[in-house]
Amino acid sequence: MKREDGEVRCVACMMCPTVCPAHCITIVPEEAPSGSIEKRPRIFEIDELRCVVCGLCVEACPCDAIRMDTGIHAPPTLRRADAILDKEALLARGEKSIATQGGVGPFWREKVKA
Ligand code: SF4
Ligand code: SF4
Repeated sequence: MKREDGEVRCVACMMCPTVCPAHCITIVPEEAPSGSIEKRPRIFEIDELRCVVCGLCVEACPCDAIRMDTGIHAPPTLRRADAILDKEALLARGEKSIATQGGVGPFWREKVKA
Protein backbone atom coordinates (compact mmCIF):
# COMPACT_ATOMS: atom_id res chain seq x y z
CA MET A 1 0.00 0.00 0.00
CA LYS A 2 1.00 3.59 -0.55
CA ARG A 3 0.72 6.62 1.67
CA GLU A 4 -1.39 9.54 0.51
CA ASP A 5 1.70 11.16 -1.03
CA GLY A 6 2.30 7.99 -3.05
CA GLU A 7 5.30 6.83 -1.02
CA VAL A 8 5.49 3.32 0.36
CA ARG A 9 3.65 2.85 3.68
CA CYS A 10 6.01 0.15 4.89
CA VAL A 11 8.44 1.36 7.57
CA ALA A 12 10.51 -1.82 7.44
CA CYS A 13 9.56 -2.84 10.99
CA MET A 14 10.22 -6.49 10.07
CA MET A 15 7.01 -7.75 11.71
CA CYS A 16 5.76 -9.48 8.57
CA PRO A 17 8.93 -11.45 7.74
CA THR A 18 9.11 -12.42 11.42
CA VAL A 19 5.58 -13.81 11.52
CA CYS A 20 5.53 -15.37 8.04
CA PRO A 21 5.46 -19.16 8.47
CA ALA A 22 6.70 -19.74 4.92
CA HIS A 23 9.69 -17.37 5.23
CA CYS A 24 8.78 -15.91 1.88
CA ILE A 25 9.15 -12.20 2.69
CA THR A 26 12.57 -10.60 2.23
CA ILE A 27 13.14 -7.03 3.39
CA VAL A 28 16.32 -4.97 3.32
CA PRO A 29 15.67 -1.69 5.16
CA GLU A 30 17.20 1.69 4.49
CA GLU A 31 17.01 5.06 6.16
CA ALA A 32 14.23 7.24 4.79
CA PRO A 33 15.63 10.45 3.29
CA SER A 34 13.13 12.74 4.97
CA GLY A 35 9.65 12.90 6.43
CA SER A 36 8.09 11.34 9.50
CA ILE A 37 9.21 7.74 9.10
CA GLU A 38 12.68 6.57 10.01
CA LYS A 39 13.01 3.55 7.75
CA ARG A 40 11.62 2.22 4.55
CA PRO A 41 12.32 -0.94 2.57
CA ARG A 42 15.12 -0.68 0.01
CA ILE A 43 14.25 -4.24 -1.03
CA PHE A 44 10.85 -5.81 -0.36
CA GLU A 45 10.17 -9.14 -2.00
CA ILE A 46 7.48 -11.79 -1.64
CA ASP A 47 8.01 -15.22 -3.13
CA GLU A 48 4.52 -16.11 -4.29
CA LEU A 49 5.38 -19.77 -4.84
CA ARG A 50 6.26 -20.15 -1.16
CA CYS A 51 3.37 -18.05 0.22
CA VAL A 52 0.65 -20.17 1.81
CA VAL A 53 -1.84 -17.27 1.78
CA CYS A 54 -2.31 -17.39 5.54
CA GLY A 55 -2.74 -13.63 5.92
CA LEU A 56 -0.55 -13.37 9.03
CA CYS A 57 1.57 -10.66 7.40
CA VAL A 58 -1.53 -8.52 6.91
CA GLU A 59 -2.58 -9.04 10.53
CA ALA A 60 0.90 -8.25 11.83
CA CYS A 61 1.49 -5.05 9.89
CA PRO A 62 1.03 -1.95 12.11
CA CYS A 63 0.97 0.39 9.10
CA ASP A 64 -1.71 -1.00 6.78
CA ALA A 65 1.15 -1.46 4.34
CA ILE A 66 0.30 -4.96 3.19
CA ARG A 67 -3.07 -6.31 2.10
CA MET A 68 -4.44 -9.31 0.27
CA ASP A 69 -7.52 -7.73 -1.27
CA THR A 70 -6.22 -6.56 -4.65
CA GLY A 71 -8.08 -9.36 -6.41
CA ILE A 72 -4.93 -10.00 -8.44
CA HIS A 73 -3.64 -13.54 -8.10
CA ALA A 74 -0.23 -14.96 -8.88
CA PRO A 75 -0.04 -15.55 -12.62
CA PRO A 76 1.30 -18.86 -13.95
CA THR A 77 4.98 -18.69 -14.77
CA LEU A 78 7.62 -20.93 -16.31
CA ARG A 79 10.52 -19.28 -14.48
CA ARG A 80 11.01 -19.55 -10.71
CA ALA A 81 12.36 -16.00 -10.53
CA ASP A 82 9.19 -14.57 -12.03
CA ALA A 83 7.23 -15.69 -8.97
CA ILE A 84 9.27 -13.42 -6.72
CA LEU A 85 7.56 -10.03 -6.68
CA ASP A 86 9.76 -7.04 -5.87
CA LYS A 87 8.80 -3.73 -4.27
CA GLU A 88 7.99 -2.05 -7.56
CA ALA A 89 5.73 -4.88 -8.69
CA LEU A 90 3.93 -4.95 -5.33
CA LEU A 91 3.51 -1.17 -5.22
CA ALA A 92 2.08 -1.24 -8.74
CA ARG A 93 -0.75 -3.36 -7.30
CA GLY A 94 -1.14 -1.23 -4.18
CA GLU A 95 -3.50 1.63 -3.66
CA LYS A 96 -3.31 4.66 -1.40
CA SER A 97 -4.39 4.00 2.16
CA ILE A 98 -5.88 6.76 4.27
CA ALA A 99 -5.26 4.89 7.53
CA THR A 100 -3.53 7.08 10.14
CA GLN A 101 0.18 6.36 10.23
CA GLY A 102 2.65 7.48 12.88
CA GLY A 103 2.09 10.05 15.59
CA VAL A 104 1.09 9.52 19.21
CA GLY A 105 -1.58 6.91 19.79
CA PRO A 106 -4.22 6.88 22.54
CA PHE A 107 -2.85 6.58 26.07
CA TRP A 108 -4.11 3.14 27.09
CA ARG A 109 -3.58 3.68 30.84
CA GLU A 110 -6.37 6.28 30.89
CA LYS A 111 -8.71 3.55 29.75
CA VAL A 112 -7.58 1.32 32.61
CA LYS A 113 -8.26 4.09 35.20
CA ALA A 114 -11.81 4.60 33.92
S1 SF4 B 1 0.18 -14.64 3.54
FE1 SF4 B 1 2.05 -15.45 2.56
S2 SF4 B 1 3.56 -13.79 2.81
FE2 SF4 B 1 1.89 -13.39 4.30
S3 SF4 B 1 2.55 -14.40 6.21
FE3 SF4 B 1 1.29 -15.89 5.09
S4 SF4 B 1 2.74 -17.11 3.93
FE4 SF4 B 1 3.82 -15.24 4.54
S1 SF4 C 1 4.84 -4.43 5.50
FE1 SF4 C 1 4.16 -3.77 7.54
S2 SF4 C 1 4.79 -5.44 8.94
FE2 SF4 C 1 5.96 -5.67 7.02
S3 SF4 C 1 7.89 -4.59 7.44
FE3 SF4 C 1 6.48 -3.16 6.37
S4 SF4 C 1 5.47 -2.01 8.05
FE4 SF4 C 1 6.40 -3.87 8.96
